[in-house]
Amino acid sequence: MPLTFLTHLECSVCGDRHSPHELQTVCRSCGKSLLARYDLQSAKKTLARDSLKDALPSLWKYSALLPIERRENVVSLGERMTPLTPLPKFGSDLGLKDLWVKDEGQLPTGSFKARGLVMAISKAKGLGVKAVCIPSAGNAAGALAAYAARAAMESHIYLPEDTPEINIKECVVCGAHVELVKGNISDAAKAMNERRKTNPGWFDVSTLKEPYRLEGKKTMGYELAEQLDWQLPDVIVYPTGGGTGLIGMWKAFEEMEQLGWIGSKRPKMVSAQSSGCAPIVKAYREQKGVSQFWENAVTIASGLRVPKAFADHLILDAIYKSGGAAVAVSDEEIVATVHEIARKEGLFICPEGAAAFAALRYLLKDRKISAADSVLVFNTAAGIKYPEVVRKRD
Ligand SMILES: *Cc1c(COP(=O)(O)O)cnc(C)c1O
Ligand SMILES: [Zn+2]
Repeated sequence: MPLTFLTHLECSVCGDRHSPHELQTVCRSCGKSLLARYDLQSAKKTLARDSLKDALPSLWKYSALLPIERRENVVSLGERMTPLTPLPKFGSDLGLKDLWVKDEGQLPTGSFKARGLVMAISKAKGLGVKAVCIPSAGNAAGALAAYAARAAMESHIYLPEDTPEINIKECVVCGAHVELVKGNISDAAKAMNERRKTNPGWFDVSTLKEPYRLEGKKTMGYELAEQLDWQLPDVIVYPTGGGTGLIGMWKAFEEMEQLGWIGSKRPKMVSAQSSGCAPIVKAYREQKGVSQFWENAVTIASGLRVPKAFADHLILDAIYKSGGAAVAVSDEEIVATVHEIARKEGLFICPEGAAAFAALRYLLKDRKISAADSVLVFNTAAGIKYPEVVRKRD
């Protein structure tokens, strides 16, 4: 059996085919995101979902459906499967009978950005890349710095100057070249692109302008399906910035259906954002297919400070097709929810994850979800990466 059933890359908009054996960014015809495609018909014949049970509990157990063609290119820091944990107290206080968290804070570098960047860096290594660059709101930078160090690649990282200090330090400690930029992630991207003009060798791993971070993030969909014995939850609430995870899970569900691993039922996909930066929520309320740039984005949930997601059309598509929703909550609600969940459940979640939990009240109130639904919320990073969110005393 080959390591992977990867066949080609396909444009998400115009369908143009691209080779996975050369470095790729966006579609060369229309400039949109590329999606990795696999020979799922052959995979279906040789891959049994039940055989996964015996594989090591890491995202690499899905290698046949991931884009890395040679094992020696895998640049791993130990990407363990993340636990699904129930929240009985917080859930019943809200009026939900079946509430779970998938705790992504337990991945290397303390956030789920590890899933995407382990894949991007492993693929880039196989294609001979020596230097990588990224604009980031924080956690993607930390993950890139770590995996680049592990792969002996140079990394060039552009961050808003008010990025949480720990995110800056985790890049510095791994030997990354860090530039702090006035403004938000969009301004960081502009500064990076200016510098790339004189450094054409830097490979840009920006969200959905690089095809393989999405493949890493889609493993969240495979993992949760396997952990729930191939019965998807009724609702998934996902704190959304660039949307890689939501789009990736949606792709995973489609692949799993073609593999015969799950049926056609899909969870309602819900995006949670902060009211200080809620372009997807605004587009959803107006029932638009794309979002508008969000001016003056500010929120304590730094991972959600993305004023305009490059693949917003794919995020909104998954929300609409699944009968989901998009909900904004305030920073005050986010901070209160971090404390409430820690006190009631012993879980110190990140502000982005707290935004998703805080969204549940609105979803119940607006009858987007009901008490009996099985609801899975993503905690996307470890709360201990955000000491500034917690007061030193009561
Ligand atoms: C990046 C990030 C998000 C947003 O993830 P996307 O898949 O880009 O939407 C959410 N939470 C945290 C902690 C993040 O670092
Ligand atoms: Zn295209």
